[in-house]
Parts: sequence; C-alpha cells; structure tokens
Amino acid sequence: MDFKEYIRVIPDFPQPGISFKDITTLLNNGEKYREAINELKKMVSDLKIDLIAGPEARGFVVGAPLAYALGVGFIPIRKSGKLPYKTIEVGYDLEYGSDRLAMHSDAVKPGQNVLIADDLLATGGTISTSVQLVRELGGNVVGTAFLIELSELNGREKLPGIEVFSLLQY
Ligand code: 5GP
Repeated sequence: MDFKEYIRVIPDFPQPGISFKDITTLLNNGEKYREAINELKKMVSDLKIDLIAGPEARGFVVGAPLAYALGVGFIPIRKSGKLPYKTIEVGYDLEYGSDRLAMHSDAVKPGQNVLIADDLLATGGTISTSVQLVRELGGNVVGTAFLIELSELNGREKLPGIEVFSLLQY
C-alpha cells in the first residue's frame, strides 16, 4: 500500500525552499491512519519494547496509537516548561537558535527498553535529543520509528547503532 498519496506536500513551507510533508491528510482518513500505525507495528514486532517515547507534538500522534496497539506505555517528550513534575532536559540546536526538550525524571526505569517514535526524520536533531533523554535515565533505546524519512538529510547518521524504521522515504 502506498501511503504517499495521503501525504500532502506543501512547497515553500515554513520557509522558501522547504517542501513540507503534511501528515494531517493521512490523519484525516481513519482507515489509512490506522493502517499506517498497524504497518509500523509490524515493522517493530521483533523488538522487545517496554515503552514508547514521542516528542511533541506530532510524535504524539504516531507514538501514542503505536503504544496503544502494542499494549505498552507512552512517554511524552515536551518543550521545556510544559511538564508538571520533575524533569530532565537536553538542549539542541535549531537552524536559527536553540531549544530544549524535557522528559519526566521518573518516566523510564534503568534497563527498560524504549522505542522512540515521531512523524518524520529530517536532520535527526529531534530524535537524537530524545535518545539522550532516555539514555540519561538508564533506558535502552531499542529503535526509532517514523511515518516519513527524508533520506537525503541523513538523519540516520545521528543515530549510530540504533535501528531506524520508516514507512515512507522521500
Ligand atoms: P529533525 O529534528 O530530524 O531535523 O526534524 C524532525 C522534526 O521536525 C520532527 O519532529 C518533525 O515533526 C518536524 N518536521 C520537519 N520537517 C517536517 C516536514 O516536512 N513535515 C512534518 N510533518 N514535520 C516536519
């Protein structure tokens, strides 16, 4: 099944030269959204997963249904200042400036196996920051899963030794 026809490509968003992959058109179709999550579930079926972590906001719409389908817990990774309990934080560089991602400090117990999920892998900055958060708490990152991988940006290179699963490649 080719899910690409359900992804809307928006030229020059959010900046000139960027071809944005809009997943809302896939999310809008209940049957295809479910199929996409089920496909990702199959791709990670050989992994032993205790928890799925996903960075806000689109990591939630992939990670949470995948966690539900697998019957494992979900960990929200959020921008600094949004989570109510004690957090750990890791900073990362953006094209212009920098930001920080946070996770509750008790979200992962040492030795737990965590899959990290997001909608899209581009440069890998968001996911490698998420990997650092999980590892800081002693979790094992057993893999990463995405609806879309922008292959030319080589995000995989920021994830050495970590399995990368993606449904669609551009
Ligand atoms: P990276 O950190 O790998 O460079 O960028 C990936 C992050 O930026 C993801 O969290 C993703 O949601 C967002 N992102 C970057 N480009 C796109 C895009 O074309 N489409 C969507 N849906 N998200 C994008």
